[in-house]
Amino acid sequence: MQQHTLRTALVTGASRGIGRAIARRLAADGLLVAVHYGTDGAAAQETVDLITADGGRAFAVGAELSTHEGVLLLVEGVRAGLLAHTGGTGLDVLVNNAAVSSSGGHLQDETVEQFDRVFAVNVRAPFFLVQQLLPVLRDGGSIVNIGSAVTRVSLADELAYAMTKGAMETFTRTLANVAGMRRITVNTVAPGPTQTAGLTAAMAAMPQLEELLIAGQALPWVGQPEDVAEPVAFLASPAGRWVTGTVIDASGGTYLG
Ligand code: NDP
Repeated sequence: MQQHTLRTALVTGASRGIGRAIARRLAADGLLVAVHYGTDGAAAQETVDLITADGGRAFAVGAELSTHEGVLLLVEGVRAGLLAHTGGTGLDVLVNNAAVSSSGGHLQDETVEQFDRVFAVNVRAPFFLVQQLLPVLRDGGSIVNIGSAVTRVSLADELAYAMTKGAMETFTRTLANVAGMRRITVNTVAPGPTQTAGLTAAMAAMPQLEELLIAGQALPWVGQPEDVAEPVAFLASPAGRWVTGTVIDASGGTYLG
């Protein structure tokens, strides 16, 4: 009889927003999901509970990703959780989703501290997470980096943030060549404006924002976390096995021109 190994995933920043939707979507595909959070353990547990209520499997792991110690703590937590739940440490899918923005970060306003923080969380943490987890990532697995449409659309108040997302696209392309011999795919999914807590608050404060956003898109609704989770699930599934080193735009056609 054929043995079916339980497939596993780590989604960083899965306590809310896009990360939560990705965690739920992967769990719906039958993966055991490590739900990472930074500060909000209760929200991460809510993600786990939602997954469990839907018949899936998940566990929460907390770690601050602005420090290297935090990255190592996350690696330890994931290994321990996988071992407890599966009897092994094999990982199939790594989704680097956690990020901070530098909104209000015009060139002249940016501080060294803000700049270092946005690069530490958005670039250094995923880099070293991959370094640490590649040995336990199973052959045929996948890495999905969550990028942003800001790499092709100029947003002056998010300069440093946009630069981090550009770095992640470069990381994606180069890493795909490194990991490819093990049939591991590496891709970026790049959302446009997506209705997580930040955008929901902005829409409440500015009633015409929804109309403005839609006017800048090809598709006529405000992007939802679930809209972004679908291409991630595709890339993480066997159906995505021949797609690597690329950026998949998941922005509803934001600013196509
Ligand atoms: P949210 O701000 O809603 O959630 C961010 C998640 O990352 C939370 O789970 C948070 O954990 C975690 N996180 C943030 N900072 C840290 C940190 N220092 N250490 C550890 N964990 C941290 O994000 P979104 O869902 O809006 O965005 C998800 C991804 O999508 C990001 O990569 C973002 O750049 C990208 N994106 C989002 C867009 C949007 O419009 N929403 C548009 C384009 C790209 P906790 O709350 O527990 O601290």
